[in-house]
Amino acid sequence: MLAASLIPTEVSGVGVLNAAFEAVVDGLRSSVLGFARPEDPQAFHVPPVISRALLERLGYVDAFPNLLGTLHTFVGDNRRWRAVQAARLADGAPWHSDQTISDVVALPATCYHLYPLVASQTLAQAVTMTAEASCYRHEGSSELGRLRSFRMREIVRIGGPDDVPAWRDEWLARARTWFEGLGLTVSVEVATDPFFGDAARMMAPPQRQEELKWELKADLGTGRAQAIASANYHKDHFGGLFGIQTDGDVAHTACAAFGLERIVLALIAVHGAAPERWPASVRGALGFGGADR
Ligand code: ATP
Ligand code: ZN
Repeated sequence: MLAASLIPTEVSGVGVLNAAFEAVVDGLRSSVLGFARPEDPQAFHVPPVISRALLERLGYVDAFPNLLGTLHTFVGDNRRWRAVQAARLADGAPWHSDQTISDVVALPATCYHLYPLVASQTLAQAVTMTAEASCYRHEGSSELGRLRSFRMREIVRIGGPDDVPAWRDEWLARARTWFEGLGLTVSVEVATDPFFGDAARMMAPPQRQEELKWELKADLGTGRAQAIASANYHKDHFGGLFGIQTDGDVAHTACAAFGLERIVLALIAVHGAAPERWPASVRGALGFGGADR
């Protein structure tokens, strides 16, 4: 019997997943896409890095500089690199001081790759897109489920100002029913993004008042509920930045995001670490079949 496990590494928030854990992720992935089916979202594969300039334009760097993972690269030829390395080792100086910041950063959320796909377009009808990505956030704590590297499946809706909030509400209801079918007890709560510094004072209160962000929270076994999914309504923020139109209006956008590792941890907290012993209904929902494997 193989217990599903997230195996810690020497750095906090970075874990290796064994096959049993990953089999549950596979089951979740097809199950999420199954309940997205009526909308038949256009599916994309997106990379784990993204343009730094794009995130700057979107305001991510101002709002969450503390969470952003930047990449640094050495500029120069190989011989020079080896000489620099040798000199560094000799005098104990940091090896990275000759590096320069790259034009790509670690992707902090999957949906940033999707809005640009319809930039400068006028949409005849609402568009639904989906992708999953390995995301990186430089999280400060190492509590269970607060990973630095994790996967986020997102479904994005781009449409008119009536369509998008209605879609977001429907998704919240559907996601809740889906989680309950997996045996999870979830609370649905208005939330705010973890803005940094002055952005917290300026951006969090309107986000809360207008109920733009909702989280579905579950206990991962630590006694403290964490968001296993969330839905964000951005109004016309991204539509304006990317020049997306619907019927003469600036398009509105929303996204529904699922934290795959956190959902598996929530399932383990409720049903135990051995997926072959999970209730038949849960195994069925994950496409495992009712019988022990
Ligand atoms: P939190 O409130 O826990 O910091 P968040 O509000 O920053 O999360 P979102 O930006 O809404 O989270 O991310 C979408 C989803 O991705 C979350 O609902 C969660 O399931 C997952 N997620 C976010 N941060 C992490 C993390 N550090 N480790 C694992 N999963 C995460
Ligand atoms: Zn998103």
